[in-house]
Amino acid sequence: MIRIILPFIILVSGLWAWNLAAGPDAGTPWGVYKQSLLLSGWLAIALMSLAMMLALRPAWLERPLGGLDKIYHTHKWAGILAVVFAAAHWLIEMGDDVIESVFGEAGEHEPHYSGFIDTMRDAAEDIGEFAIYLLFAMLLITLWRRFPYKYWRYLHRVMPALYLLLAFHAAWLAPLQWWQQPIGVLMAILLLGGSIASGLSLAGRVGRHRQVRGTITAINTPAPDVTEVTCHLGQAWRGHRAGQFAFVTFDTLEGAHPFTIASADRGDGRVTFLIKSLGDFTRNLSQKIRAGQTVTVEGPYGCFNFDRRKRHSHQIWIAGGIGVTPFLAWLEGIGTNAVAAPEADLHYCTRNADQDPIVERLREHCRDFPGIHLQIHDSSKGEVLSAEKLAAGVPSSAAAEVWFCGPAGLARAIRQGLRSAPFRLSRFHKEAFQFR
Ligand SMILES: Cc1cc2nc3c(=O)[nH]c(=O)nc-3n(C[C@H](O)[C@H](O)[C@H](O)COP(=O)(O)OP(=O)(O)OC[C@H]3O[C@@H](n4cnc5c(N)ncnc54)[C@H](O)[C@@H]3O)c2cc1C
Repeated sequence: MIRIILPFIILVSGLWAWNLAAGPDAGTPWGVYKQSLLLSGWLAIALMSLAMMLALRPAWLERPLGGLDKIYHTHKWAGILAVVFAAAHWLIEMGDDVIESVFGEAGEHEPHYSGFIDTMRDAAEDIGEFAIYLLFAMLLITLWRRFPYKYWRYLHRVMPALYLLLAFHAAWLAPLQWWQQPIGVLMAILLLGGSIASGLSLAGRVGRHRQVRGTITAINTPAPDVTEVTCHLGQAWRGHRAGQFAFVTFDTLEGAHPFTIASADRGDGRVTFLIKSLGDFTRNLSQKIRAGQTVTVEGPYGCFNFDRRKRHSHQIWIAGGIGVTPFLAWLEGIGTNAVAAPEADLHYCTRNADQDPIVERLREHCRDFPGIHLQIHDSSKGEVLSAEKLAAGVPSSAAAEVWFCGPAGLARAIRQGLRSAPFRLSRFHKEAFQFR
């Protein structure tokens, strides 16, 4: 996330600073006030434009950024920072009376417009203020984790419309001279990109070209809280790599949910999902869907691909609960020769190994691959995975790469513990199963 957002902020601020040097009132109190107002507003709309473009699920950015989940993470933080800068912009705007009472009106060079331009600038100011209040409300709801995701998703769909209002505000209130300078060129690109992205979002076109309609062919419940759904997507499905996920729509009103494809690609358009009851919709899922019904699958997305940064680095795979799905797809892929068998330590954390059908599946898969060392950590028997246990299997001279899929809290604890590990950690790739 920081790899994208920090250089972006530096570029945006740099162009503002370049333009500043040419400004006539730089250095006066009103000049500082005006430039702070411009910089905060410029950063806010630039970051919001970035967030809008990232919301298009650009598959070509997956490789450089490390997968769609990372793109969404960047989208989220670009959005949060945009609201922070928008708040600063609003506070500065509200502070003009203070500046006036301290320094007087002298030096306040307000450009004067008339006619159509004046009317539009007034409208842009009013619209900007209205949109900013809605934006604050949206941020509060987003950060309030207890607000139900399914309602938040619908509310979040207002964002493209809100963006268009703010783009209008920014385009009309940016200083006219900006448009003849590099800052104006970047602003035009960002506003255009953000507006096109908003239009596509409002029209429901995001990800449409990656959607395939198919049929549910089988539904199993290997455990009371897990539903296994197999879908036939036919030739329209262009295949997937082990570890990738897709957005699955079983019910149009409910909308799409992301699930990892738990099966290897056999080239026959068949995909399987292992879905744990983790909330409203996934609870009792087997009773909400039926074999033969249509399903829409959008994807595949993601880069959970075990690519090594260093050729001889030790591979540590960690699966927490239902986070085992990308590993299952990978193991199945090895079985069908879709992928090469690597050397790896595979740690699976489960609440109760005796009642967990995944344990037997993993054992079965790993039986034929002596290079994969499976370890089960059963919390009902007090077996908790720790950084020390991971380190035990790795020679101290080796570099190790960790591929983690599971609860975010477990990832944090392990990553922290690995800071004092005797080996060099050259990569920690995490898939956390949450976007918000
Ligand atoms: C990349 C990725 C891969 C995943 N793979 C699997 C998998 O293989 N098996 C599995 O059981 N679960 C998987 N999940 C989690 C799964 O998407 C959620 O458990 C499911 O969407 C919950 O829906 P719900 O309505 O039952 O829960 P809710 O109570 O509505 O939400 C619970 C949490 O699930 C997430 N969530 C809910 N709806 C969506 C949505 N439409 N889009 C994104 N996130 C949502 C939110 O974080 C929310 O806080 C994956 C998630 C991601 C991001």
